[in-house]
Amino acid sequence: MGEFDLIARHFTRPVRRAVLGVGDDCALLAPTPGMQLAVSSDMLVQGRHFFADVDPEALGHKALAVNLSDLAACGARPLAFTLALALPEADDAWLAALARGLFALADAHSCELVGGDTTRGPLNLCITVFGEVPAGQALLRSGARPGDDVYVSGTLGDARLALEALQGHLTLPAEVLQAARQRLERPTPRVALGQALRGLATSAIDVSDGLLGDLAHVLDRSGVGAVVEIERAIELIAARAYLKSTSSHFDAEVWQRAALAGGDDYELLFTAPAAERQAVQAVAAAVGTPVARIGHIEAVPGLRLVDAAGQTVPHRWRSFDHFGAAG
Ligand code: ADP
Ligand code: MG
Repeated sequence: MGEFDLIARHFTRPVRRAVLGVGDDCALLAPTPGMQLAVSSDMLVQGRHFFADVDPEALGHKALAVNLSDLAACGARPLAFTLALALPEADDAWLAALARGLFALADAHSCELVGGDTTRGPLNLCITVFGEVPAGQALLRSGARPGDDVYVSGTLGDARLALEALQGHLTLPAEVLQAARQRLERPTPRVALGQALRGLATSAIDVSDGLLGDLAHVLDRSGVGAVVEIERAIELIAARAYLKSTSSHFDAEVWQRAALAGGDDYELLFTAPAAERQAVQAVAAAVGTPVARIGHIEAVPGLRLVDAAGQTVPHRWRSFDHFGAAG
């Protein structure tokens, strides 16, 4: 199978919304008048972001999911994406499974593959997504204001627990590992929630590198500080609910690491005025994604963790940094 057969076989489908899709030098998109294009790229590298023996269908899902998550964090509606792929070999069954995972998620969000690049090399997938958002309404990292509440969607930390279990650092009961592994390998981008929060959230980011690290980006860009209630964040670990009722349990360190510095959650972290609590819960209910309040924004810069009694707790959790000490 040559390069062009491979593209035709696995990555070419009839064009739907784009003006021109796969097959020419460029794809052509026609943005809706009054909308701004939202563009983002994310790369997945074998050995860095996934194991060599990963299920290709899950990999196809995740490669697009992490990109859709960036659109969600901007409140943008997905339109199209490109796929740059380096492959050690053209394995037909493997590619078919990758394409299956990729297109299932793409179709669920009406996001169309319009082009890309294919080359031989160490396994690496880079997707660029294009979305649209009404001019001036994108959710940014820079809008958090003192008095705003801090929210997280869905669940936190389970992807990290799964990773640690797969690496042999901790043991999870089989059913718990299976559910946590789904969060690691098949994250759910919060696309509908992101769009529903337009005009309501004052800032947003997706949690890819860990809650505290990603919150720190919002604080930096907004020129504010925040207080986070540790217990509220830990309550969002789905596996914790199961494990609390069994004999197996971990010490606080494990839970805190997972919820505060876990990464790979692809949940939305956002701020909204305290006066909008009901409105926030109403849009979250309307799109079927739970959101929880975990803290609030203050004028004093910095990130403070407090325990259930409101006491400040020292913390040393660092988010993932590819070129940092822990990377
Ligand atoms: P060029 O050399 O002009 O950059 P290529 O020969 O690399 O174009 O690609 C041929 C066509 O196939 C282009 O339209 C390109 O966007 C598309 N394409 C290449 N790889 C992929 C891929 N992995 N998925 C989707 N489209 C692809
Ligand atoms: Mg060309």
